[in-house]
Amino acid sequence: MARITLDHIRHAYGPNPVSDSDYALREVHHEWKDGGAYALLGPSGCGKTTLLNIISGLLQPSHGRILFDGRDVTDLSTQARNIAQVFQFPVIYDTMTVYDNLAFPLRNRGVDEADVDRRVRDMLQIIDLADWAKRKARGLTADQKQKISLGRGLVRNDVNAILFDEPLTVIDPHMKWVLRSQLKRLHKQFGFTMVYVTHDQTEALTFADKVVVMYEGQIVQIGTPAELFETPRHTFVGYFIGSPGMNVIPARLDGSSVTLGSQRLDLASAPTAAEGDRIELGIRPEFIRLGREGMPVTIRRIEDIGRRKIVRADFEGQPIAIVADEDAEIPAEAHVRFEPQGINIYANSWRIGGEA
Ligand code: ADP
Ligand code: MG
Repeated sequence: MARITLDHIRHAYGPNPVSDSDYALREVHHEWKDGGAYALLGPSGCGKTTLLNIISGLLQPSHGRILFDGRDVTDLSTQARNIAQVFQFPVIYDTMTVYDNLAFPLRNRGVDEADVDRRVRDMLQIIDLADWAKRKARGLTADQKQKISLGRGLVRNDVNAILFDEPLTVIDPHMKWVLRSQLKRLHKQFGFTMVYVTHDQTEALTFADKVVVMYEGQIVQIGTPAELFETPRHTFVGYFIGSPGMNVIPARLDGSSVTLGSQRLDLASAPTAAEGDRIELGIRPEFIRLGREGMPVTIRRIEDIGRRKIVRADFEGQPIAIVADEDAEIPAEAHVRFEPQGINIYANSWRIGGEA
């Protein structure tokens, strides 16, 4: 297993990149610790697969270096990097049996047959295909084939890292949950470095110790689920994580006070912003309290979602979402207060301060 260093990685697919928008990856400079479970989370097209393929060696970055445990592997093939990768769609040998598909990566590395047999049988249990061991892969469903792909990625225990690129896309929802739990358990048991790409926040948050949020070819934040929730470093993290996402309200900053339309709020300290920066205040719906006092809002709609209500309101001409308990009273003349620890201040979308 390896610590992975991404040293000033940039990647453009086209020739002669000039501006940032020519880069599928703008600049990635991070170190991922040995044995960590990372989720790469972001919308379609933000560069997740590009980054994963650069780590595995399927793609050479236009700039920068990749190091495993401090050793430069930028020019090495996937095989030489000793990486297992599971793709979005199944990659298996149709003419082989399920058993032989799983045995293949082990036999390829000269593992003795007794050991191959033990590990393949274990893996068949994990992916729930023990009864299918002798069947040719050809006739299986997409779902079963993807389980074989997963099994092939996981059957080796000598890899530097296992990379998963949205591997559960073709799996039905119940099985998704089962496989995700199995992956989590295997990670705990064997401690391999794992990078798991997904565009689904639930999948990322339930699965990883650290979530790497990507947006437009950049990593905008790496953090625990709690850090991403409590202190989004970029407004995108605020919108993308949470349901509903963070409210982002245009603001003016004057020392340690912010103005939102006709309302003024005092902060505990003065964030540093430059002249002309676009200032916004971010507050999650969970940190807004509805009541009879505070700043006035106009209620537009109330959505019941079990134990909570989502209240849609207008605040200083801006639509905002508020989360309230199911039995919370909604006053006719509604007002709101922002909990100080939930306030974040952004300049040009990047966090410059707040109360937390
Ligand atoms: P994600 O996996 O997050 O959906 P990708 O890494 O696949 O994103 O793509 C990032 C950007 O690079 C997108 O704008 C995509 O269109 C572009 N891109 C991806 N693969 C290629 C390619 N082989 N040739 C040219 N552009 C590509
Ligand atoms: Mg992708």
